[in-house]
Parts: sequence; structure tokens; C-alpha cells
Amino acid sequence: MPETKKSFIELDPNEAKTLLAEVGGEPFRLAQIHNWIYKNHVADWDEMENIPKHLSQNLSEALPLHPLEIIHIKGSKTEPTRKFLFKTQSGHNIESVLMHDKDRTTVCISSQVGCAVDCKFCATASMGFIKNLSAGEIVDQVLQLERESQKKITNVVFMGMGEPFLNYNRVMEGATRLNTALGFGARRITISTAGIVPKIRQMADENRQFKLAISFNAIDEDRRKKIMPLTQIHSLKSLMESAFYYYQKTKRFITFEFVLLKGINDSPSDGLKLIQYLSGLPCKVNVIPYNEIGGEFSRPDEQTIREFLNTLKQAPFTVTVRWSKGTDIDAGCGQLAVKAI
Ligand code: SAH
Repeated sequence: MPETKKSFIELDPNEAKTLLAEVGGEPFRLAQIHNWIYKNHVADWDEMENIPKHLSQNLSEALPLHPLEIIHIKGSKTEPTRKFLFKTQSGHNIESVLMHDKDRTTVCISSQVGCAVDCKFCATASMGFIKNLSAGEIVDQVLQLERESQKKITNVVFMGMGEPFLNYNRVMEGATRLNTALGFGARRITISTAGIVPKIRQMADENRQFKLAISFNAIDEDRRKKIMPLTQIHSLKSLMESAFYYYQKTKRFITFEFVLLKGINDSPSDGLKLIQYLSGLPCKVNVIPYNEIGGEFSRPDEQTIREFLNTLKQAPFTVTVRWSKGTDIDAGCGQLAVKAI
């Protein structure tokens, strides 16, 4: 077995087949095991009722089923939002969030341990980059939350810890598996990037069906460089060019996320500039009032937020607002950073 794969869920179909043969299982058992994992969301080998005891025992001696272990769950007092702290087999911690809203149940998952991008308003940045998650670790967050959730998960967003496009191949492999093995429609899976330009083009060239979101957050180079230093490498101009390229190639709308920061990008004139900036491109905009993480930024007051949103009423694109869920347990956008429990 390859060194890095230490759980069954991380194996590819051929590796799973080989393992099964090694422990004396007939090939048809693979489909049964697959069902237990992806349809019934079992926690461990011994819950697979139609698998003979000796076989599940051999498998459990060979490899653990899940790569991740839930070590803590924190529930919001004000909303049906829960934050899950997982431990990887390498001993690192990551977080995922389960949210319910009307008929939607969304999981927000992590793609890396920590993050290298260093956005000044995001708590994950303070961890630095530690490690890429494997495709299996990405999928396992959804599998385990599906087991923990009372309602069926309807949407998956790659908006937890990490920059998905700096772990592009594993994220695409994981998302593809969510689509094929777990049955999530590709349009129910959203991948959000801080703006890794070549990967936006690659996603377009590969004609991936998943939804793309770009964390836009500022409407001029200088301001964006200050809050998102990666703009020094991937300029706002090249980011917009890649967004146009993506639309021309795929004809799919990108969602531009816009974290609203007091005194930085929240005035009506900033709103007008945003409209001008995006007007030529069929897209959507998702405004996210900043969630406090301590530090130099603050959230605009209610009135300022309303005025900003009012300005956007004249925009040719659809505007939605993300009143983040679970901010009382630091589960809102940009608040994920593993802290002492
Ligand atoms: N690295 C990816 C995904 C993680 S961040 C990305 O940058 O898109 C997910 C979203 O949360 C992004 O749109 C980001 O701009 C936003 N965000 C980060 N910190 C935030 C904060 N403190 N308050 C509100 N939104 C925040």
C-alpha cells in the first residue's frame, strides 16, 4: 500500500480491489462495502452487516475505514449550525461546518491544514500552511457529516480551511468522488478560490462542471494587494481576464464573493465601482459582511451594509448576502482556525 494512504476511504478502486484479495474477500464484496460507506455512512467496519465477521475483522486489522476522526463538535446556541473538529492520521486538526437553512443543508469543508495565502482578514491565515489534504480526507468530511446530520446534505462548499486551488488535483479528485460515489450533482458543489489565476483557466479548459466562486473583496489593485497579498502575484487584471476566459469557455456564471470590511470597501462609491468592474461579465455577487476574528478589521454597521446593498440594486448581476452562520462558535466564513477547544 502507498505510504500516504492509511485508510480504506483513501484507496483508489484498484488498491481497494488488491487489499480485498489480500485479506481473502471475494470481488463482489467491494460493491457491498462501497454501499455501506457511501449509502449508509457507517462509522466502522463492524457495522457492515452483510460482510462476514472474519472479513471485516481482517479489513479492520489491515486499515482503518476512515482517515479522519471527530474529536469535538460544537453547536451554535442561536442556529442549527455545528462545527466539527477532525483529527487526521498525521495528527493535524481541521474543521468543517454543517449548516441548515430552510430546505438546504450545507457542509463547508477544508482542503488544506492551514493556508499559505495570507489574506489579512481570514483566521486560517494565522496558522500558515501545514499540509494538503488527500482526496479521501476531503470526501471523508462529507461522509462523516452526512452521518451526523439529521437532514440529507444538499450542498458542499470548499470554503473551509485552505486554498482549494493550491491543492487542485486532490480537490478535483475529491469533488469528482462526491459527484460519482455520493451522488452530489456537480452544480451542488462549489469551489471557492482566492484567485489562483492559472487554475481558474485550467478548470475552464478541463470543463469541470462544479461551481466556481472567486473571493474578490476589493475593486482596485492597491487595496486588494493590502488585504490579499497574493494580488502581487496574481493581479486583479489577470484575475478578471481569467474570469472572462472561464465564462467564454464554459458559459457558466462565476460567483464573486465580496467580504465587506468597514472603511475599506463598504461605501456606496465602492459599490458603484464594483458594478462597473463586473458589468461586462455575466456573474453573481455574494456579499459577506466581515466576521470578527480580532485584529485590524471590523464589520460595517447594519446601516452601512444596507446602503451598500442598496447601491448594488442597480447592478446587472444578482446579489445575495451571506449572513454567516455560527459566528458565536467561530464557524462563520474566515473564522476557521484550529484553537484550543
Ligand atoms: N481560500 C478560499 C476558500 C476559503 S475562504 C477562498 O479564499 O475563497 C471562504 C470565503 O470566506 C472567501 O470568500 C473569503 O473571502 C471569506 N472570508 C475569509 N475571512 C472572512 C471573514 N473574517 N469574514 C467573512 N468572510 C471571510
